[in-house]
Amino acid sequence: MTETVRACPDCGEVTDIFRRMPGKGASHHDERAPNWRCSACGAEFDEPDEREKRAEAPPITGPAAALVEASAEDVPGGAD
Ligand SMILES: [Zn+2]
Repeated sequence: MTETVRACPDCGEVTDIFRRMPGKGASHHDERAPNWRCSACGAEFDEPDEREKRAEAPPITGPAAALVEASAEDVPGGAD
């Protein structure tokens, strides 16, 4: 299963886009509004892009990685 998020077609912003009603302030948020606006770059569009939501999972490095690699026998006092 792939999660998707709405993104600005212009700059790719995913958090600062919202619908707006024509004739109202750009910051007005209304779920019924037909248009979208990106507050990051100011682009307006009918439909936002949809992109794959990326899971932020940086690789484990440093001392933590060594702990992950180690088995019980490698840890002093970890096994009798
Ligand atoms: Zn944008």
